[in-house]
Amino acid sequence: MLFDTDEIFEEGLDFDVRAKKESFGIDQPECSLAEDVDVSGSLKKTGKDIFLTGRIKTELSLECSRCLEPFRFPVATGVTAHFVPESKAGKEHGEVEVKTAEVDIEFYDERRVDITQPVRDQILLAVPLVYVCKKDCKGLCPHCGKNLNSGPCGCSEDTPIDPRLEVLKSLKDKLK
Ligand SMILES: [Zn+2]
Ligand SMILES: [Zn+2]
Repeated sequence: MLFDTDEIFEEGLDFDVRAKKESFGIDQPECSLAEDVDVSGSLKKTGKDIFLTGRIKTELSLECSRCLEPFRFPVATGVTAHFVPESKAGKEHGEVEVKTAEVDIEFYDERRVDITQPVRDQILLAVPLVYVCKKDCKGLCPHCGKNLNSGPCGCSEDTPIDPRLEVLKSLKDKLK
């Protein structure tokens, strides 16, 4: 998502773009982009600084933490970013040192601003730490591994949970 800096004026450049999902590199099995990414907003220039404010709309495919099934997760979130010219960073001005301590600072080369990185960051920030396909996801049976959302399995409470618990149980028996 590149913008020509010559087209960004102080009064701002409004835009509405769609970027290919492939351009974000969000493609892990447990978290990938399922749809292209819509971004609308504006870019404003103040001196050499360029400010982005926008809205992101897309959909992720996440793997449920409980039942491991993939599910769609809509993302609608805001994005802001502050770009400074790359050539100015570090060398020329002492005060830029301080500015770069800002967490959300991004760089642009002389001619073009690329908003891909801040948009990518915001999409990933929208992902909750633990994600389940639905609030009452029943998850997998700890005994046989069946997805319990599609119906109960034949296991009973007495079925051994897994080999590690088996070890504990036999330890207990020995102590008797
Ligand atoms: Zn689930
Ligand atoms: Zn079971």
